Amino acid sequence: MAKGKGLRTIAAANGIAADHAYGAVVPPIYLSSTFAFDRLGHTQGYDYSRTANPSRDMLADTLTELEGGAGAVVVASGMAAIDLVLGQLRRDDFVIAPHDCYAGTHRLLAARRDRGQFDVIFLDQSDNAALAEALKKKPSLVLIETPSNPLMRVVDIHTIAMQAKAIGAKVAVDNTFLSPALQQPIALGADFVIHSTTKYLNGHSDVVGGAVIAASKQDTEALAAWANTTGVTGAPFDAYLTLRGLRTLFPRIESQQRTAASLAVYLQRHPLAKAVHYPGLESHPGHAVAKVQQSGFGAMLSFELAGDINDVRCFVDALRIFTLAESLGGVESLIAHPATMTHASMDAAALRSAGISDTLLRLSVGLEAEEDLLNDLEQAFSAVVTDAAGRGG
Ligand code: PLP
Repeated sequence: MAKGKGLRTIAAANGIAADHAYGAVVPPIYLSSTFAFDRLGHTQGYDYSRTANPSRDMLADTLTELEGGAGAVVVASGMAAIDLVLGQLRRDDFVIAPHDCYAGTHRLLAARRDRGQFDVIFLDQSDNAALAEALKKKPSLVLIETPSNPLMRVVDIHTIAMQAKAIGAKVAVDNTFLSPALQQPIALGADFVIHSTTKYLNGHSDVVGGAVIAASKQDTEALAAWANTTGVTGAPFDAYLTLRGLRTLFPRIESQQRTAASLAVYLQRHPLAKAVHYPGLESHPGHAVAKVQQSGFGAMLSFELAGDINDVRCFVDALRIFTLAESLGGVESLIAHPATMTHASMDAAALRSAGISDTLLRLSVGLEAEEDLLNDLEQAFSAVVTDAAGRGG
């Protein structure tokens, strides 16, 4: 892709009409597991698809351009992407991670710590004193997730990256919740950007995938070598579908975040929503930072339902358009109950420390008509009121 192209042009057009064999406008898919050598000791560019594959490379190249990195490695899931970065650590290394990160990330870090592979400190990264104290212990890696899943907490990537760099630590940012359309961690000082491409990048809830984009060539090569060694590279078909989804990333996320902002305002005014977590709200503690480091507030939000678990059950049962399901970032609106779904693998103490209660609900806002989504929430709140009255509440 020629220098100077805008991000939305890269998303829509990287690799388009670049096929030298037949002039295919859409980049062809290469499913072959193996590639013919020209002659002994000489390939035509590829040898074996675990190591490298043209369809996967096309996606990696597009993600590299979008995130402003030096290279990318496309792997089988978001968890594989996080583990690829963790695979660079040694036994004496330690990681600073957010106390309220995605539960799968929390589980992976704790499992590798328990196996003696490195140490980890979970902390609230917006607590400057706690972060400064932990940095004194010279971590090798600071893992950031902003906005965090599911509480939408925002931390200042640039400030943390500068502090980490000063002590020689690398910084990895999980950019899954915003995508490069709304946040560019490498420009803010990150060494690695991690994605669950399952979410906004693919955007159609029909692929599980992941990627790491590195700021330096050297790190890209180390990650690619490790992905080949451990065999976590992504399937070509998944890469093809993800690139197809990526074409519409900008219009999707822009439309979805517009609706999300309206729903957040509606929820904030609703008496049955106790707290609303959306960085676009001026009342959100991370609003000022989000305004500077993000180019949009995204389409994810969470809120506390006033009531108890029975009210939560009634609310999600009553919804007709929002589907009760894990995952996020697709064209369809989803609702999740983190305590029993996405974050069920965290024990009670970890949930409490992260601030995830039994009445917290997370919304992934899709492309449906705003009015239909508002009506859906409204009728579900009404069902809660009717049900509570029936129970004498
Ligand atoms: N990072 C974040 C912020 C996530 O929300 C998720 C999954 O929900 C992951 C990583 C893991 O991604 P995957 O499910 O593709 O392994």
